[in-house]
Order: sequence, then C-alpha cells, then structure tokens
Amino acid sequence: MKQATAGQLEQTREYDVIIVGSGTAGSTLARELARGGRRVLVLERGQDRTLDERFSSLVAIANEVKLGDEGLSSMRGLVAGGSTSLYFGVADSPDCASFAALGIDVATELEAIKRELGVAMLPEARMGAKPLALKQAAESLGHAWVRREMLVDFDRYPDYAYDAKWRARDFLDDAISAGADLVTSATVSKLVIEQGRVVGVEYARKRGFGKELQRIHGRKVIVAAGEMATPQLLRDNGIAGIGARGFYCNPGYALYGIVPGLRGNDGYVGSSSAQISPEVELGDANVHRSLHRMMMLGGMKLRHLFSYPGTLGIGVKVKDGFGGELRPDGRFHKRMDDKDREKLALGRNEALRVLEKAGARHITDFGLTAAGRIGGLVRIGEHVDSRFETEVAGLHVCDGSVIPDDQRGTPTLTIVCMARALAKMLLSESSADRTDAQLRSDAREVVAEA
Ligand SMILES: Cc1cc2nc3c(=O)[nH]c(=O)nc-3n(C[C@H](O)[C@H](O)[C@H](O)COP(=O)(O)OP(=O)(O)OC[C@H]3O[C@@H](n4cnc5c(N)ncnc54)[C@H](O)[C@@H]3O)c2cc1C
Repeated sequence: MKQATAGQLEQTREYDVIIVGSGTAGSTLARELARGGRRVLVLERGQDRTLDERFSSLVAIANEVKLGDEGLSSMRGLVAGGSTSLYFGVADSPDCASFAALGIDVATELEAIKRELGVAMLPEARMGAKPLALKQAAESLGHAWVRREMLVDFDRYPDYAYDAKWRARDFLDDAISAGADLVTSATVSKLVIEQGRVVGVEYARKRGFGKELQRIHGRKVIVAAGEMATPQLLRDNGIAGIGARGFYCNPGYALYGIVPGLRGNDGYVGSSSAQISPEVELGDANVHRSLHRMMMLGGMKLRHLFSYPGTLGIGVKVKDGFGGELRPDGRFHKRMDDKDREKLALGRNEALRVLEKAGARHITDFGLTAAGRIGGLVRIGEHVDSRFETEVAGLHVCDGSVIPDDQRGTPTLTIVCMARALAKMLLSESSADRTDAQLRSDAREVVAEA
C-alpha cells in the first residue's frame, strides 16, 4: 500500500481533514473525502500488513481489551484497515428511522452502499453441515433459525474464502488512489485545540529505540479510532461527559461440543441465528480453522482443538444494560446486574439444549468471556451533534463509538452509512469555507523526541 513518508508530509503543507484511525469509518471517510477533492491525511496506529486468516496473521493484529474483573474482554484489529480485518461479515442494517430522528439521513447511504457492495444471505443450498445441524436442532426446539445478511460476495466465491468478505482495507486503498495520505504506526495522543477550534493533532511514531512526537495541522479532525479508543481520546482532550452513564458490551458465551459423525468445514460464522427473546440471541459460532485453533489453544480445549470437523459451536449474545465505567486510566470496568445475568443464563441454557439436541458431547465453553460491541460512551445529541461535531469546532467523531444506544445489531454497515453521511455533509461545505485563514502553512513540525 502506498504511504506518505515524513518527507512527503513536509511538502504537503496543509490538510483539509485529518482522520484518526483507518478502520471502517476512517477508510470510508477517507475514500469519500479524497474522491471529493479534499486533502486527506489518515493516521493509523497499526502497521500496514498483508491481511489473511493464517494463525500468525491473526495473532499479529488481534488486540484483546479487558473489560474489568467480570472476565469479559472484547477484540479489535490494530492494523491498517482496522477491525474488519478480523470480522465475520454479518451485516445488520441501521435503523434509518432512528437516525432520521437524530437529524441524520443514512437511508440514502444504505441504499447506495448495498448497491455498491452487494449484501446477501448465504444461499440455503450452501449451508454447511455445521449451520445445518444447528438449524435442525434449534427448529425442533421451536426457534426460528434464520439466515443473516452479510457483506460477502457469495457469487464470486463458491467456497468459504477470507477474500469474499468486504473489508475496510479495500476503501483505504481506494482513498490512497484518490490522493489521500496514510501514515501507519502513528498513534494520535493529543488533539490540538486553540480558542475552541481544533487545529491539528499530535502523534507518536517509532524511531529507533524511542518515539518521535509529531504535530500536524488540519482544518478538521475526525476521530475514528474505534469504540475502545475514541472515548478515552476525547475525554483526555477535554470533551466533557464522556462515559458518564457507564456502557454496554453485548456479553455472551460461545459453547462448543463434538457431534459424532459430523463432517463440517470452514464456513461463515454468524451467517444464521435465532432471536430467542427480545434481548437474547443465539447464533452460529462455527469459526474458520485458524480462529478455532487460536480459541481452543487459548482455552486449552485440546479435545476440540483436534476435532475441527466434528466440533459444533453456538454463540449467545445478550443486550445488557448500562453498567460500569471507563476509568481515568482508560481501562474499562464492566459491572452487570441481576437482569443481565438472567438473560445470560437463559441464553446459555437454551444454547446447551440446542447442542444436546444436535447430539453434541463434551460440551464446553470459555466462561463468560466474550463481549461484543462496546457502546453508550459517546452519544449523538449529547457529545456530538447531527454533523458528528463536538463542542470543539471542526472536531468530529465518527466510528462505532457513536452508534445510537438502541441499535445493537452488527455495526459495520451502520458505521459505513454514518461515515458516508458525514463525508457528504463535509463535502457540501463551500470551498470558500475550506480555504479560510485557519489553513496552516506549517503543516508539520517535530514537537519532541522521547
Ligand atoms: C472477531 C470480530 C468479528 C466481528 N464480526 C463482525 C461482524 O460479523 N459484523 C459486523 O458488522 N461487525 C463485526 N465486528 C465488529 C466490526 O469489525 C467493528 O465494529 C468495526 O469494524 C468498527 O469500525 P470502527 O471504524 O469503529 O473501528 P475500527 O475498524 O476498529 O478502526 C479503528 C482504527 O483506529 C486505529 N486506532 C486506534 N487508536 C488510534 C490512535 N490513538 N491513533 C491512530 N489510530 C488509532 C486502530 O488501529 C484501527 O485501525 C467484528 C469484530 C471482531 C474483532
């Protein structure tokens, strides 16, 4: 991937928009804004790596964030392209009416992006032995086990393939082709704010054994560092009220059993599921081989580690309430209440019944360890307005952290829609406004060496 070097940046002099993070939101914004003629810089904490699903690749980019002493943790991808480098491709649509009530049109973007990327369900005829076993067992227990929409090109790839899934990295490549600059291994630590307006950022880059701190100026800054980094970055930089009401994290279980005679293969995890109550969902947890290896090794589940074709997995996900806090040191601390535990128990019991019905033996899980999306810390209408702008002029936030609380489905499609909507708003600003006196000629300066 083409990247800007420090030398190239020095000559660039000025940016219209600096984007912090190159994940789903950052890459979508960069692509739309660069194609619209804006001078865009993307700063990415992770490295530029070739993406695939080999065990070593997953280990290199997967980052587990602990959520306190309940044992929960959530995963993200720290790499150019962000978390879709690891994701499963399940594509729930945003609730357009709920966004409209907040003054944001995502309906137009949803239609456009579905047209461009194609969102489809795994064809029924291609459901593998594992999802079929789950479906039959769940249906015989009275659950409606349904296929989900996915950001997967089923037409082009007849079998399971990592490359069949859309990834933000594709949009990042498009952004660079359209003229955006990308700097990787660049961790933004400070938003530079002068007289109530953002004028740039400071970021650290590795240099020899130390780190070089650099400052770069831009007229607008969009924080798109993801739900686990953005809230802390905003709070550290003086945005008031972040996380005042705690957060939710969609906790759950993944249970695995071995079904004698089952001969399953790699498939699209999450491609089918059942809503067993308004707040409890069961889903296909049959991950591909590399992730299976990583999980079973990590949990020391040796019997399951060596029985991939016969191992049947089912996931439980619940909508938890708000609880816990984002502590001053940036660590998450989740606290669950009795209602959350009731939902988790309901889901776990039903998942066990489904596995048993499917004939599974040696059923095991990893305890209450899996959390999904973390949300509720940054809010549209409270911390950002309908232009995703904070109280600091020119400072916008657009990523998973601002998804409204009532939307608990899989987030990727929603994030792409939000990012496109924001890009459209920024592109509609007049060019006179863009070239105002706030543009800096001293775009880059070395602040300090540590
Ligand atoms: C295993 C797994 C499976 C998933 N499956 C699905 C699924 O099936 N469907 C779905 O919709 N979603 C799924 N997700 C979630 C989805 O991938 C993410 O919610 C989504 O990609 C988040 O987009 P984002 O732009 O908010 O953040 P990210 O894509 O996480 O991007 C944030 C970027 O910011 C960078 N960054 C962080 N801090 C800084 C900093 N200080 N300075 C510079 N850069 C920084 C990070 O390195 C990262 O590249 C899954 C996630 C995982 C981990």
